[in-house]
Parts: sequence; structure tokens; C-alpha cells
Amino acid sequence: KIILAIETSCDETAAAVIKNGTEILSNVVASQIESHKRFGGVVPEIASRHHVEQITIIIEEAMKEANKTFEDLSAIAVTEGPGLVGALLIGVNAAKALAFSHDLPLIGVHHIAGHIYANQLITNFKFPLMTLVVSGGHTELVYMKEHGNFEVIGETRDDAVGEAYDKVARTLSLPYPGGPHIDRLAAEGSPTIDLPRAWLEPDSYDFSFSGLKSAVINTLHNAKQRGIEISNEDLAASFQESVIEVLVEKSKRAAIEYRVEQFLLAGGVAANKGLRKKLTEEFDQLAIELIIPPLYLCTDNAAMIGAAAFNYLEKKQFANYELNGDPGLDLEREY
Ligand code: ATP
Ligand code: MG
Ligand code: FE
Repeated sequence: KIILAIETSCDETAAAVIKNGTEILSNVVASQIESHKRFGGVVPEIASRHHVEQITIIIEEAMKEANKTFEDLSAIAVTEGPGLVGALLIGVNAAKALAFSHDLPLIGVHHIAGHIYANQLITNFKFPLMTLVVSGGHTELVYMKEHGNFEVIGETRDDAVGEAYDKVARTLSLPYPGGPHIDRLAAEGSPTIDLPRAWLEPDSYDFSFSGLKSAVINTLHNAKQRGIEISNEDLAASFQESVIEVLVEKSKRAAIEYRVEQFLLAGGVAANKGLRKKLTEEFDQLAIELIIPPLYLCTDNAAMIGAAAFNYLEKKQFANYELNGDPGLDLEREY
């Protein structure tokens, strides 16, 4: 069974053709980073315009690369939320038009379900499983008993990890998106600067990163005022160590308490080298299988949407033509 999947929730226009939820026949991503860079972040209006310009080209490319026609398809899947509403609408309307004109079922997918299911393109899920989702807009631990069933056991109370990375990078005058730059600098420095770790209540799986972000900014300002030189590399290394320590510790505790068969990493920040290394080291000591997606499946793409859509296709959980872009879509929703 073959699905054409479309993703336009933020600043990537993406389409992919996926077989049986596990096999990538094509995976085309047009990034708009260059257009948003000079503004230091994603400008919603610009994102929508680029999606409009790119969407049909990217879909055609994905179909051509997969060497498939619309007759070969079993469904059209699309990210329905969360994300920028104007950006989501471009993908949703393209998907509706194609589903209608080719008489194919339509499937709406939650963007974070997509990030989690990116892992299904490299492994078979074994339930129960836990995923640490770390991206530009989300930081959460998600428990799954079965396909399509998501329970958020903890989430950030303020900034997402990716957001904190991007804000710290901006303070260090690094280009957008700053995550990869901080990651690179961190590898060249030592974590010698004392920064806070927000553990919250002892039994909480929630996160908080705004205090850490402010501490980094204050450290820089104070040093500047006193004329002290601070190494960007050391500051990046210290920030990254603080982030990773909390993420990994809570991940381990959640994996053990929920007795999971697998632990997955997902989202754009899953590309972080320090996080991948530390998680691998720590899970090596637990008898729990750790799955980390390859870099091209960490950041936004449509292959992950096609992977997540497959179990909805199997259960015939289809959307109707009232499907809409929903910026606040809930991952735990019931069909
Ligand atoms: P969401 O998925 O929550 O809707 P998004 O789609 O904008 O948000 P993603 O595309 O999943 O986010 O991830 C982008 C984020 O990942 C950015 O904040 C970016 O800085 C961060 N990121 C990418 N690579 C790295 C890295 N190596 N280290 C840290 N952060 C990284
Ligand atoms: Mg993006
Ligand atoms: Fe994302």
C-alpha cells in the first residue's frame, strides 16, 4: 500500500511516497531557511508564500522520483497541525484537491506523531515504547501502548529545547537556526561554566528551559560589563551539558518506570551530536533498545508523515473534506 504524504507545517515544503509505512520510495524536502535567515527566524507570511510556489513542484518531484502514478496510491496524507496556520493550509488544501480529484482517501496526521514515526522507517516498533520528542516547538516524553495511541507524560512548561538553542545562538550572534552551530561550538569547548539544571518536582517528567536560557544570556552580559572574556565554545558546551543532563536523566527514569521495550528519539534536536552520544552511552547500560533516527529523518520531512499515516490507513481512520489546518492540534486526540 502506497501513500503520498505532504508536510508544510513550518518552513519546509515536503512530499514523500511511502510504501507500507516503512519503505521510502521518495522523500523531497525544499527548505526555506535561506529566506528566513536574515530575519533571524521563520516569518509566517513568507513561509506561506514559498509553500504556495513550491507545493505542486515538490509533489510532482516526489511522484516522479518514486516512479508512481496516482493510480498506484492507496491514500493521500497530510500534516494537519500543529504549526503555522497559513503554512498548514497550503498542504491541507493540496492534499484535499488531490484526494478529491483522484478519488483517494484523505488522512490527517499530527506533526509530532510524524516525528515519532520517522523511527518506523528504520525499525519495527515494539510496544510499549517511549519517545523523547525534542524539536523547535516541542519537548515532551510520549508513551505509546499501541499504534496511534499517544500519552504525553511530561512536557516543557516554557521554552522548547530547539527554541532555547536558537535563542542562545542568537545571543552569540550565530545564524538561524542556531541549534547545529551551538552543537558544533560545544564540541570544541569544555563545560566549565556553572549553569542551572531545572529538575522540577522529583517525580515530574516536565521540563523547563527558559531559566537556563536566561542564565546563559546573563552570564554573557555580566562578563561583557566586567570586561571579562568568555569563550563561546565553553559557554555552548556548558549550556549543552545542562540541557542534555536533564533530558537524558528524565528519559532514563521514564523508560524504566514505564517498562518500555523501546526508547525512541525524535524531532529536529535529535540531530544533536552531544545528545545522541550521551543517550547511547546511558541506554547501553539499560536493557532497553534505543532507536535514534538518521539525521535526514530528524528535521521536518514528509516521509515521517507517510509512516505515521499507514496505521490510520490500516484502521480506515480517514478525514473528510472538512479537514482543516489546526495550529493547536492535540497529540492525544481520539479518532
Ligand atoms: P515542531 O516540530 O515542534 O513543530 P519545528 O518543526 O520547527 O518544530 P524541527 O524542524 O523538528 O522543529 O527542528 C528544528 C529545530 O531543531 C531548530 O530549533 C534547530 O535549531 C534544532 N536543531 C537542529 N539541529 C540541531 C542540533 N544539531 N543541535 C541542537 N538543535 C538542533
Ligand atoms: Mg523547520
Ligand atoms: Fe518538526
